[in-house]
Amino acid sequence: MKKTKEKGAFLRQCVGCGKRGLKNEFIRIAKTPSGEIVIDGVPSVGGRGAYICNNAECLKKSLKNGRLSKNLRAEIPESILQTLKLTTEENNNDQSV
Ligand SMILES: [Zn+2]
Repeated sequence: MKKTKEKGAFLRQCVGCGKRGLKNEFIRIAKTPSGEIVIDGVPSVGGRGAYICNNAECLKKSLKNGRLSKNLRAEIPESILQTLKLTTEENNNDQSV
């Protein structure tokens, strides 16, 4: 049997706009096995995760349509929301969206 060489090519999807892309294009919000909601970094925390583009619009959309919490099967704590807002707004500086 041949092994497929697709390692690393798995595309993630933004829960805000639905855009697909590579993992490093997105912010990952994860639920740890103990049920804590965290913004995933390095090393990855594993567990259930949802991805959004690194921009404020997608964050808004993902909250508005409820997909972020639906994907994680948990409410997003206010502290995490604040951090996400700051992170995405910082990144919006030179984007015209
Ligand atoms: Zn998006």
